[in-house]
Amino acid sequence: MNVLLIGSGGREHALAWKIAASPMLNRLYAAPGNPGIAREAECVALDIADHAAIIAFCKDKKIDLVVVGPEAPLVAGIADDLATAGVRVFGPSKAAAQLEGSKGFTKDLCARQNIPTGAYRRFTGAAEARAYVKTQGAPIVVKADGLAAGKGVTVAMTEEEALSAIDACFDGAFGGAGAEVVVEAYLEGEEASFFCLCDGKTALPFGTAQDHKRVGDGDTGPNTGGMGAYSPAPVMTDTMVERTMREIIEPTLRGMAEIGAPFSGVLFAGLMITRDGPQLIEFNTRFGDPECQVLMMRLKEDLLVLLNASADGQLAHVSARWRDDAALTVVMAAKGYPGTPQKGSVIRGLAEAAGTGAEIFHAGTAMRGDEVVANGGRVLNVTATGKTVREAQANTYAAVDRIDWPDGFCRRDIGWRAVEREKS
Ligand code: ATP
Repeated sequence: MNVLLIGSGGREHALAWKIAASPMLNRLYAAPGNPGIAREAECVALDIADHAAIIAFCKDKKIDLVVVGPEAPLVAGIADDLATAGVRVFGPSKAAAQLEGSKGFTKDLCARQNIPTGAYRRFTGAAEARAYVKTQGAPIVVKADGLAAGKGVTVAMTEEEALSAIDACFDGAFGGAGAEVVVEAYLEGEEASFFCLCDGKTALPFGTAQDHKRVGDGDTGPNTGGMGAYSPAPVMTDTMVERTMREIIEPTLRGMAEIGAPFSGVLFAGLMITRDGPQLIEFNTRFGDPECQVLMMRLKEDLLVLLNASADGQLAHVSARWRDDAALTVVMAAKGYPGTPQKGSVIRGLAEAAGTGAEIFHAGTAMRGDEVVANGGRVLNVTATGKTVREAQANTYAAVDRIDWPDGFCRRDIGWRAVEREKS
């Protein structure tokens, strides 16, 4: 079959790498792709916001399945437009993507379906939100309703912090995304990411991971899109997975079907594992980046079989097999990230790093002549496996150390929590 993959990050490189390994694949295209993806797929310079152009491309190249990597095109309704044009797509409709696109929407669904999550209120004006915070006290969490690239959330340890976060949202710090605000109870526990493939009716558990959002070692410094991840997440025991399916995922699918927005695609639950069990922090409606990279390293199954089953409503008839090994990915970023990254520096040693057995997924890279150069904040995802997280960590950093890129940096402690746990 012919497949078009939408996106250009490390997540999409990992998806391209796995799709390219499928015996079912005839041709793989990526729009717009990146130099790493170009090793697996033919990259095409389509504007992914131009749905008509994507549909025309799909008709021309006889695309059998479109796989959408990032959230923005899903929230913009690309899956609906493709489906209307008769093109098969892996990913949720615009209505179903509200699970990521509107935090208030998701909280209301949780309330209707009795899904465990922090108590909350929605606000469209600062005065009421401020008054609510004063009744609740701190710690408390303030969230812009819409997509704000991970920056719209303030975990406020003091009332003053919460009040200024509310003012920032309503003063337009996040544009339209902050026109509505959710204030929610602070949850204490260990965070984990849980993934499912869904087809509207059935959810297939699709692995667990934990990521590191802060830029610095010891989980310090500003937040980023993610500096590394590993899978599986030790905190997600079989019992916890079973409870998450029963208490969170299945009621969500039922609730979405009831409102006429059946969910298909990747349902990514950000969880807080509390003393009372799993609580939902947020849903994303696509794979995490860099969590996808570690999931793809562990997946034994033919990914295309599963994506097809999701697109066709056949997930009840397939299963996913996983390697027992742990996988770990380290994000190498350009100096300056998460502020303004320096672009254009030359990266060498990629072949030597790959020679260790690691996969080097490209995120923000570009070609300048024959040389790979940095072209974004998060630039490379060095990913390896091992029998334990500790071994996966050692294998990953052995590959990182082969990369010759003086203008890049990475954290040196990805996986620390799981490694500590393995020691005890
Ligand atoms: P991202 O894109 O970074 O996942 P987001 O903007 O979609 O962020 P959330 O995932 O809802 O926002 O929140 C970001 C982070 O804030 C979470 O990963 C978690 O660490 C923290 N957080 C969110 N809600 C709560 C809560 N109720 N209690 C404690 N911490 C929370």
